[in-house]
Amino acid sequence: MSDLYREIPQVAKLLEDASLKSFLSRFYISEIKEVIDETLADLRTKIKNNELKEIKYEEVVRLIVEKLNKKQIYSLRKVINGTGTIIHTNLGRSLLSEAAIKHVIEVCANYNNLEYNLVKGERGSRYEHVEGMMARLVGSEACLVVNNNAAAVLLSVSAFAKNKEVVVSRGELVEIGGSFRIPEIIETSGAILREVGTTNRTHLSDYEKATNDNTAIYLKVHPSNYQIIGFTNNVTNDEIVSLAKKMNKERVKPIITIEDLGSGCLIDLSSSGYKENLVSESIKSGIDLVTFSGDKLLGGPQAGIIVGKKNLIDQLKKHPLLRAFRVDKMTIAALEGTIRDYFDEEKAKRTIPTLKMIYLSESELRERALMLYERIKCIEGISSEVISVYSTIGGGSLPHSQLASYGVVIKISNYPAHEIERVLRNQEVPIIGRIVNDKFLLDVRTLLDSDIDIIINTLDRIGRSLWKTS
Ligand SMILES: *Cc1c(COP(=O)(O)O)cnc(C)c1O
Repeated sequence: MSDLYREIPQVAKLLEDASLKSFLSRFYISEIKEVIDETLADLRTKIKNNELKEIKYEEVVRLIVEKLNKKQIYSLRKVINGTGTIIHTNLGRSLLSEAAIKHVIEVCANYNNLEYNLVKGERGSRYEHVEGMMARLVGSEACLVVNNNAAAVLLSVSAFAKNKEVVVSRGELVEIGGSFRIPEIIETSGAILREVGTTNRTHLSDYEKATNDNTAIYLKVHPSNYQIIGFTNNVTNDEIVSLAKKMNKERVKPIITIEDLGSGCLIDLSSSGYKENLVSESIKSGIDLVTFSGDKLLGGPQAGIIVGKKNLIDQLKKHPLLRAFRVDKMTIAALEGTIRDYFDEEKAKRTIPTLKMIYLSESELRERALMLYERIKCIEGISSEVISVYSTIGGGSLPHSQLASYGVVIKISNYPAHEIERVLRNQEVPIIGRIVNDKFLLDVRTLLDSDIDIIINTLDRIGRSLWKTS
């Protein structure tokens, strides 16, 4: 056995080392010990592979200090979104409004009436807190909130179509975000998928012909992230609703109409240049149940919202799966804090970050881009330019739904774009941008005001380190 093993410093001795002890202000001792163990394990491997000639105590300490300096306290942490995708699923989708954050803190730092009816002084329901407000906002009889829209669809289909048929157009059998696939959700619910029509054209008569005694649901799905163009035909909500009405005249158990709206927009956004179906329009068309996400266009926390007929939602409230999909107080508080602002639409466009980003004006964006550009220009070793780009809304909105914006290109020395991307991604506050035509850029639409100083300080540090090494 190599003598080198005996020269590996003792963990106890390292823990007493002043330069490692100084990290106790940031890390728990067990976290420091983990880094020490990891470093010493590396040493043992190197000795085993004959890659080490000697072990210097100072060198070991230096390695540990280096690792601790890079170590972040949390795994889940803040990043800067310069991708221009407003609802970016990889980057946490919608940012919460200040009102929502304040409400979450207030509710979660204290005991609260989550399931306590303060009027009666007895057990209450967690589902009551947002139900009335949401129902009023979209004009529905009732509302139920679950963990996400996938759960909302799964619960609705499980409750009303177990061992029965769900009719869906072939043009709407979509996959969203890699793991949400309509055929699989229907199969998981224990229902039978009854595909109708073709990819590009589905007619009302297709639904009618597919209907039999075992039909339970007509399901409409918002195709969200893709679009069929050209020779197409889609059955409207009005048509589906009237077909269900006609069929239900002679049925004991009525066929239920459900629409998975995906993004779920509460206010008309067309003045921003972007048009999305409104939840209230679907309700008005007479669809029995409409489901949508809380953290897409709504701009709130991850949640699945089911709105529609009271008798159906009452049945969902009794379904055993609901217990598995139930939302936490944090979600309810964040949702309540978000949607309250929708009572004043103009206010919502300023206070809810997702809507605010959609509504940023060309002049605001240009001003921000030029300001960032001017500040980067002053950093030695780094240069910049401003170019026109398109931001995307994301979160299952149509890919063509693009908003004109500005990108600030960042050039560091002679680094290729992918190298700049990697360097900025690995900073203490990771800066995530986008590469367009071999240029790394930050789309200013998704930057927050507080991000600007961080970007400048980071680039300044990178610029200075280039200076030192060259
Ligand atoms: C995004 C989306 C879903 C999934 O919603 P989650 O809230 O992410 O579970 C389901 N259906 C459609 C049409 C969507 O756009």
